[in-house]
This record gives sequence, structure tokens and C-alpha cells, in this order.
Amino acid sequence: MKRALFPGTFDPFTNGHLDIIRKGLRIFDEIVVAIGVNAGKNEMFPLEYRRRWIEDVFKEEKRVKVAAYSGLTIDFCRETGSEFILRGLRSIVDFEYEKQIAHVNEQLFPGVQSVFVISEQEYSVISSTIVRDLIRHRADFRQYLPLAVKVEEVLHG
Ligand code: ADP
Repeated sequence: MKRALFPGTFDPFTNGHLDIIRKGLRIFDEIVVAIGVNAGKNEMFPLEYRRRWIEDVFKEEKRVKVAAYSGLTIDFCRETGSEFILRGLRSIVDFEYEKQIAHVNEQLFPGVQSVFVISEQEYSVISSTIVRDLIRHRADFRQYLPLAVKVEEVLHG
């Protein structure tokens, strides 16, 4: 049983994230989408909404689980019995940052291996940050989000 943790903030979950998970499902038996709860971060969308939207995206896919965690990602890997960390790469900028984290993680916890997947070109420009900016400026963001990610629930109360 190959289980991978896919950690992130998912504020909100985008088609870019979806693409990485689809590809990850060809490699792993199970993927745990792990929403990192960061005391310092000021998220646009409350955790419970982010979690429910992701659960809705994968309601027909039993091999994807959703969980929230605080603390170190590698500790949550231990807790969930995940031997792999799945991460997506958009650019060289992502790569430099991800490489550092992966090295530290592998030093601290050699049992966990990071696996990197690149998204299709059409998705590689999408980031949650850009989507949040579009939302703030009332631009069209819909094409970047799965339908189940109903950000309108929060935006319109
Ligand atoms: P974090 O706050 O840890 O960066 P994110 O929610 O922004 O979390 O992203 C989680 C993971 O998804 C990261 O590995 C990120 O590189 C990847 N990712 C996000 N958007 C894309 C995309 N469009 N293409 C490829 N990977 C992506």
C-alpha cells in the first residue's frame, strides 16, 4: 500500500492541485490531502470550508482522503503512515524552495521520500495566490477552480 501525503494550504484548492492529484493517483494507492494549519497565516477561506470543498471534489474517489494538521509535515506523515510526500512543481522558483524542504525532511525522517510532479502547461500558471487576487479584484476566477470549490459560499455569506 503506497500512501502519499499531499500537503498544502489549499486557500483555495485549484485545478492545478487537482491535476497533481490525478497524476499522483497513477503512482500511489492512496493520497491524503493534508491541509496545513498555520497559526501565522491569514487565510481567505476558513479551514472547514476548504476541507469540505476538497472532500466534495473527491466524493467519488475513495483513494483520496482529506485531513488537517498543524506542526511538521513529516510528523503528520508518521501519524498517517505515509511514506511519500507529493508536491507539485510549477517553475524553477518552486523547485529551489521544494528542494530545500525535501532535503531537510529526508535528513530528519529518512523513511519519507518526496516525489515531484509537474502540472500540464495549461495549469502551471495557476496558484491559490493568483486566484485570491482575482477574487479580491472581482475578476473572473471560475475557470481556475473545480466546480465543487464553492468559494461563493464564503464571499456571499
Ligand atoms: P503551500 O502553501 O505549501 O505552497 P499550496 O496550497 O500553495 O501550498 O500548494 C500545495 C502544493 O501544490 C505545492 O506543492 C504546490 O507547488 C502545488 N501546486 C499548486 N498549484 C500548482 C500548479 N498550478 N501546478 C503544479 N503544482 C501546483
